[in-house]
Amino acid sequence: MRPCFDWRRGGRWLALLCACGALLAPHAFAGAPTAPAEKGSGAAAATPMVSESTSDAATLTPVTLQLKWQHQFQFAGYYAAAARGYYRDVGLDVRFQEADGKHDPTDAVFEGRAEFGVGNSDLLLRFARGQKPVVLAVIFQHSPLAMMMLDPSGVGSLHSIAGRPVMIEPAAAELFAYLRREGLAPGSFTLVPHGFHPDDLRSGKVEAMSVYSTDEPFLLTQSQTPFALYSPRTSGIDFYGDNLFTTEQMVNERPAVVAAFRQASLRGWHYAMEHQEEIIDLILQKYSQRKSRDHLRYEAAHMAPLVQPGPVDIGYTYPGRWQHIADIYAELGMLPPGISLDGLLYEPDAWHISRWMTWMMFGLLGAVLSALLFSLQIFHNNRRLATEASLRRQIEASLQLSERRYRTIYEEAPLAFILLDRGAHVAGWNSNAERIFGWNAGEMLGRSIERMVIPEDMPKVREVLDQVLIGGGVRHSVNHNLTRDGRVIVCEWSNSQEINADGEVIGVLCLAQDATERFRMREELEGANQSLRTQIAQIQALQSQLLEQTLRDPLTGVFNRRYLEETRPREFARAQREGYAIAFLFLDIDRFKQINDELGHEVGDDALRQVAALLLAHARTEDIVCRFGGDEFIVLLPNMAQAAALARARQICAACAELTLGSGEGATALSVSIGVALYPEHGQTDAELARAADLALYAAKSGGRNRVALARTDSRTPTPGDA
Ligand code: GH3
Ligand code: MG
Repeated sequence: MRPCFDWRRGGRWLALLCACGALLAPHAFAGAPTAPAEKGSGAAAATPMVSESTSDAATLTPVTLQLKWQHQFQFAGYYAAAARGYYRDVGLDVRFQEADGKHDPTDAVFEGRAEFGVGNSDLLLRFARGQKPVVLAVIFQHSPLAMMMLDPSGVGSLHSIAGRPVMIEPAAAELFAYLRREGLAPGSFTLVPHGFHPDDLRSGKVEAMSVYSTDEPFLLTQSQTPFALYSPRTSGIDFYGDNLFTTEQMVNERPAVVAAFRQASLRGWHYAMEHQEEIIDLILQKYSQRKSRDHLRYEAAHMAPLVQPGPVDIGYTYPGRWQHIADIYAELGMLPPGISLDGLLYEPDAWHISRWMTWMMFGLLGAVLSALLFSLQIFHNNRRLATEASLRRQIEASLQLSERRYRTIYEEAPLAFILLDRGAHVAGWNSNAERIFGWNAGEMLGRSIERMVIPEDMPKVREVLDQVLIGGGVRHSVNHNLTRDGRVIVCEWSNSQEINADGEVIGVLCLAQDATERFRMREELEGANQSLRTQIAQIQALQSQLLEQTLRDPLTGVFNRRYLEETRPREFARAQREGYAIAFLFLDIDRFKQINDELGHEVGDDALRQVAALLLAHARTEDIVCRFGGDEFIVLLPNMAQAAALARARQICAACAELTLGSGEGATALSVSIGVALYPEHGQTDAELARAADLALYAAKSGGRNRVALARTDSRTPTPGDA
């Protein structure tokens, strides 16, 4: 069975649809007319009703129920439903059709001669063959089918049917299953047509026959004939018994009829089981007197535990039980294993909705979804608009803040804001511009910038403005500007492009501040600095001069003894460090007192100057010439060996001898004596060398003057040389 719409599968979507539909059209899903909930009505909800039905019998929908057998208590529920008007209440006019005992009564349903039928578990085999029965309700929770045998000894066995004739009614597959399980395959006994009367047992026509445990045993009981019943349940084959069923086609095409019939039938069954005697009367009066009242009572009494065996409600169907039945059939080779039972069982909780209703519901669902999407779109748009509005408010607030800041800067900052158009005409002029330059905005707007720039600076100003207009960025400049009262002031300018909302450069925004005072102070400071630098240079020159004076002999210009005293230790340290010799010449003018005395002190001074000049003339750059005191001179010759030093001393001595003092008749010659000592031969220290040279000079004097004497290596007996 494949219902048009399965509530259990589509229930959530349908619930959503209904919820949405309820919002849009609260009455769109108002159900069919309802009746009070019946015990055992399955869904216990709205009573299904055939749409065209009314209480008028002429408009009831006729349907036929094919009975499994002839009229008896086995079908009590259906009689009750008809008698109580339950079928009429749901718009049905039900006709009951008995079985003829020759044909399988279920064929009537599959062949269209009845809409509904009563069948046993054999329906499963038909289902497997593709006949598509749909079990609407299980009436007999346990099958009453059994094998009956006479059992006079009380120790009979089912296995005694082996090789014997046996009657088994049609559609009793469960009995064959039972016999197979008991080791009695169909070929192990002889199957003969069923007579449906225990006399066939009593006459010995058959060894066993299939019976309803609720029916045929009554007759043997009445006649006190010992018998035995063999129920398949003893072998674990516990099948369902009578089932109300229809076809899948009926369920799909006439779902309301199916639901209505099922509901009314179950309602009738409840009534029948609670009012058995009333239904027996009804059977006897209206349907059949084939069976006695006692027989019907026997049947009713034995049916009760099969129809209502426990807490389960009449009609209850458990899919697992059907699976169990299918498994047993499969085990006995009567069904292929693993068969799907999908579609066999009616789903009373499902909503069976016709195709047009399905399409209508899907259409409505589409409409609802469209409405939802439209609503979502509106919601989304509203949210976006709200977001954009919020953003716009933020931007406006930000712009207002920016505007206030700009206004504050424009008005309060000590800067002139001047806007020039592309032709350098004033297009904006703030209060600070007026304060700095004197003109008010009315006097300047539209006027050329030339009015406030000295002519000499105008080319530079034009160049800067062009650079800004073309190249962008911020350009700084310092200009000499004119004021309204004719003063020339110095201003610092920052210039940048002015751009309109379309991104076009419309001019130059100039920020200017008066820097005249700062520049004046800077110039003054630079003048003072220059003056200071000059004075410092003069002082340094003076200091240098003074220092020179302290180191030089004022009469001769050569270094004095003080300089020598400071220099000599350094020279010796360097000679020691670098490993070269130092020659020490100690020169003294011969008989200088006499010159002074005879020629005068000035001639004596002149002699000193001439000797000093001669010594300088014979000196190398690195040589140090100094006047040691009186008429004594010392020449220090770094890095000079003994032979060279002696040669130099002799040159000096000879040159001095050629000097002439005084003029005319009083002119006289000059001579000097020179002591020569060398480091390291004549002394390891400065003092030792000075002493050795002094001794050598003494030796030269002693040797007759006008000569050179070399110090002795022991420094005690200098060797006088000749001039
Ligand atoms: P000797 O040959 O032994 O050296 O004899 P001397 O006369 O030169 O003796 P001494 O060297 O001792 O004499 C040095 C003189 O130099 C003594 C002093 O009057 C003279 N004298 C010193 N300083 C100056 C000076 O600055 N100018 C002049 N004209 N004479 C000076
Ligand atoms: Mg002398």
